[in-house]
Amino acid sequence: MKKVVILGGGGGGAILANLLPKDEFDVTVIDKKENHVFLPGNLFIAFMGHKKERYMKPLKELLKPHIKFLHDEIISLDLNERKIKTKGKEIEYDYVAIATGAHLDYDAISGNTELLNKFGDYYSGPENAAKLHNTLMGMKEGNFVIAVADPIYMCPPAPQKGAFLSSKFFAKRGLKEKVKVILALPFPHAYSSKVISDIIEPELRKEGIEVHTFFTVDSIDTKNKKIFSVEGEEINYEVAVVIPIHEGPEYEVKPAEVKDDSNYIKIDKYTSKVEGFDDAYAIGDCTNAPTSKSGVTAHLQAETVASRLQGFDAKYSGRTNCPLLTNGTGLFIISDYDHPPVPVKLSKFKRLMEDLFVATYWDAIRYPELWEPIFKAYFEATNPEVLGKEGW
Ligand SMILES: Cc1cc2nc3c(=O)[nH]c(=O)nc-3n(C[C@H](O)[C@H](O)[C@H](O)COP(=O)(O)OP(=O)(O)OC[C@H]3O[C@@H](n4cnc5c(N)ncnc54)[C@H](O)[C@@H]3O)c2cc1C
Repeated sequence: MKKVVILGGGGGGAILANLLPKDEFDVTVIDKKENHVFLPGNLFIAFMGHKKERYMKPLKELLKPHIKFLHDEIISLDLNERKIKTKGKEIEYDYVAIATGAHLDYDAISGNTELLNKFGDYYSGPENAAKLHNTLMGMKEGNFVIAVADPIYMCPPAPQKGAFLSSKFFAKRGLKEKVKVILALPFPHAYSSKVISDIIEPELRKEGIEVHTFFTVDSIDTKNKKIFSVEGEEINYEVAVVIPIHEGPEYEVKPAEVKDDSNYIKIDKYTSKVEGFDDAYAIGDCTNAPTSKSGVTAHLQAETVASRLQGFDAKYSGRTNCPLLTNGTGLFIISDYDHPPVPVKLSKFKRLMEDLFVATYWDAIRYPELWEPIFKAYFEATNPEVLGKEGW
């Protein structure tokens, strides 16, 4: 039996654990939280008033019965000694997979922690998403601002999704004329990719959502309710969410050279192997892979690592599939290492597909082997090479 320790039981870690055959692997998952959280649900909690419990489940229930779950916080990982230290234990392994996600550094922007504590947000978790919902329920007029602090963050279309869903939320409450939704982005367009921006810009205009481009958040003055940009602009807010600076794991990893300047774990982008180690992998939001920080990436990297641990030469193509929802329609941001996002038409059907993906989530985590052929067929049919030629 090969002893595999998986650090983090989020989207990537839980799928990897469930994919490893029990007759070949002795698997332990370590997570500091007892509940697995479906982060995309934050949007529905904050802007549609869904109950937060809908998007949380005990991790133990999501892992197959033979998998050991250690509820503890990881303090350090020594790749040379093959040792993991948690608050309560020291653990050795044959193989390790790092899947502890992105660390959200609210303190990196002056005023952002205060903003989070006052209003809540839809990045840090279901509790703060519920808090944001309460804040918005009490809002009667003024600017609701969603700003992005840094170009690298989870789910690239989530700021735009937040803008569309909040616009709908205010319209439903009869406040469309009184509350202005403002999206402030560090990019030259309404989305980081011009191709996608060209598709959604007319929709943003139709909704009356104001977009500020080249707006890199510098600081927040919570007393006077202003957000300042590095470029010298300022935006007034009544309520604001500033998507924080993302980083790799906070805990110590030895040797230190496996982390980059933002603490992301340096990996081979195809195999997910940690640079310089044959017995260590990293998947999902904690890595420096040049693709979007998304659940789809974590899922596909988990499949790659599960196959590699079983002796197959699997590789991850960099495929993304992030849903962007407008008001009633949707599209998917589809790209891979060799293709930038391809133009995809907005449609009601794609909006419905996003709802279907959400509905399958818990099952896909618990039984990834059953969903693998279905997702494989979808990814093949929507390969960016094919869509680039045929459109969708
Ligand atoms: C608002 C929003 C919308 C999104 N929408 C989409 C979408 O539509 N589609 C999509 O594909 N992706 C989406 N994402 C992104 C997606 O949720 C993440 O990319 C995905 O969860 C990453 O998985 P992961 O396993 O790398 O990390 P996570 O799911 O973040 O899991 C990391 C786990 O590690 C644990 N952990 C961290 N540090 C420690 C430690 N020191 N000790 C012990 N445990 C630790 C955490 O408790 C956590 O359970 C969205 C994200 C947000 C915020």
